[in-house]
Amino acid sequence: MPRTLIIILFLILVILYSYFVSKMTHYECPKCGTHFDKNGWDLLKPHFFGKREEKCPNCGQSTFMIRHIGKI
Ligand SMILES: [Zn+2]
Repeated sequence: MPRTLIIILFLILVILYSYFVSKMTHYECPKCGTHFDKNGWDLLKPHFFGKREEKCPNCGQSTFMIRHIGKI
């Protein structure tokens, strides 16, 4: 298999994974404790160890949100 095809397949898998993870999770603001949902692509934001930088819709803080599995 050509190397470019393998890279394209890998990228598709990563994008699908991030799409389903973002569909199955929601976030909690560490400042005010608000739980909120984000319909976005995980890949487009910096994230590590289950946390992701987001802006809180309640208090407006831009910080690393705590990720929770499941819907609100
Ligand atoms: Zn907040």
